[in-house]
Amino acid sequence: MKPEIEIFRDYVRKKRLRNTPERELIIEEIFSSQNHFDIDELYLRLREKNQKVSKASIYRTIPLLIESGLVQEVFFEDGHLHYEHIHGREHHCHLHCLNCRKIVEFQDRHLESIEKRLGRKFNFDIISHKLEVYGYCEECRKDKRGR
Ligand SMILES: [Zn+2]
Ligand SMILES: [Zn+2]
Repeated sequence: MKPEIEIFRDYVRKKRLRNTPERELIIEEIFSSQNHFDIDELYLRLREKNQKVSKASIYRTIPLLIESGLVQEVFFEDGHLHYEHIHGREHHCHLHCLNCRKIVEFQDRHLESIEKRLGRKFNFDIISHKLEVYGYCEECRKDKRGR
């Protein structure tokens, strides 16, 4: 049994919700890749694998995955939210290329020290932060110069 499935089963048990095979298929698909995803992409990935999961049940399952700490909302782009799984992964932030839509994950210890400093300055108990950085990646800049 995969740990994320166990965490989810514990969660539904505690909340007295119903678990379904559909939900476990959704979790397996999410954890099979490190990619960020939105609902449509996830739905298509499941369909390609001939998994019979409705889009409605993906919409219903995502909030449960967020509440159980397996998945988080990462950014809002093209008019909708994008998600990633966080269980078993280290905290990171994202660079977004505005041209090719590539996303680069990064960690920077300076951000952790900014967090600490803000905590002291505002007497704030800081749990986490999000940083989305926008610009143009190396390849896209090269393309521009070539034109
Ligand atoms: Zn790019
Ligand atoms: Zn990420």
